[in-house]
Formats: sequence, C-alpha cells, structure tokens
Amino acid sequence: MKNKEKDIRAYFNKLDRSFFMDRFKEMASFDEAIPIGHEQTISQPSLVLEMTLALEPETDSRVLEIGTGSGFQTSLLAEFASQVYTVERIEELYHRAKERLDESGFSNISFKLDDGSMGWEENAPYDRIMVTAAASAIPEELLNQLAFGGKMIIPVGSSFSQELKLIEKDENGKIHSTVLNHVRFVPLKGKYE
Ligand code: SAM
Repeated sequence: MKNKEKDIRAYFNKLDRSFFMDRFKEMASFDEAIPIGHEQTISQPSLVLEMTLALEPETDSRVLEIGTGSGFQTSLLAEFASQVYTVERIEELYHRAKERLDESGFSNISFKLDDGSMGWEENAPYDRIMVTAAASAIPEELLNQLAFGGKMIIPVGSSFSQELKLIEKDENGKIHSTVLNHVRFVPLKGKYE
C-alpha cells in the first residue's frame, strides 16, 4: 500500500461522521447513505473512501467538488489537497457544511452556493474534480475545466443506477474513461439531470 493511501485510510478511520449529521446520528457508523434533509444524503462511507483513493489528491492539487452535501467528503479532500473549491445548490446544506468545515479549522476550502453542474469556471483548470451526484452524461464544461494530467470521478447513468467513472485527461488532452463500480447517487440537478 502506498504511503498516501495509508494516510488517507488513517485519516478516514478517525473521522467522526456524526459531526457531519444533524439527524440520525445514531446511524453514523452504518456503511450506508443516510438522509441529511432536502431529499439528499451523506454518502456511504466506504464509497467516499473509494472515490477519494481513486481520485488520488496530491498535496499540490486544486480540487473542484460538485455537491458539498454534509461536507464529509469535502473534509477528506481538503486534508489531502492544496485547495478545494466546493459547490452546493441547497442553501441550508451549504451553510451547515461551511460552519462544520470552518469549525474544523480548514482554511483551504472555497465555498459556493450555486448550480455546479457546469463547474466553477473562474478558478479552472482543476487537477481533480469530484462529482458527488449522478449525471445523465459527463458534463462537457467539467471536461473543459479539468487540467491536462487531471482526474475526475463522476457517477453517470439513470436516476436508478449509475456507473462510477474515473475520467483521466492525459498530457495531450485525450480523455480516458474507466468504470470503477456501480452506484446509486442522488441526481445532479440542472443541465445534466
Ligand atoms: N459527499 C456528500 C456527503 O457525503 O455529504 C454527499 C453529497 S449528496 C449525495 C449530493 C449533493 O449534491 C447534495 O447535497 C445535492 O444538493 C448536491 N447537488 C445536486 N445537484 C447539484 C448541482 N447541480 N450543483 C451543486 N450541488 C448539487
């Protein structure tokens, strides 16, 4: 196991998931997605870990995350990357996640309340992009905002079942896609719903 993978696993194992939940805290240790209100969920922990490991954040990575949700995945990214730009469209979730991550002492997270289905153009390109809601197709805008040599994780498919894809843009700008798993995420609202 690589050192980075060991570090990510160790940090993940120490994370208190209940801190990211305002309800159903007694279910925090279950390896399941759990409701956080507004028909959204805090993701299944094993999947959050799998997605983070597959994204391979580096200490100098600039990461775009679409779908802040509870902030659970955001904290893992912020711990292992240089800067995280995270976008959430639901105001209450945006505020709560920001409060939690500010309280946790992170100073390398930029938050935005918006529809993130078309990315966050102003700060592009990103070395890594993590999409935590399901798109019907890979957003062209996100591909354009991914740096050469960058990686993106995104669930793609119908509202019932999706392929979890690892998208890699090589140094020549060529796109390579690998299916990592089959998953069921809440929909990415907007143009790619
Ligand atoms: N990883 C998060 C966690 O563990 O808390 C879970 C995120 S939840 C499965 C997906 C999130 O994506 C929800 O908070 C939802 O509001 C958000 N979302 C869906 N479509 C979005 C969009 N177009 N722009 C920004 N956020 C979006």
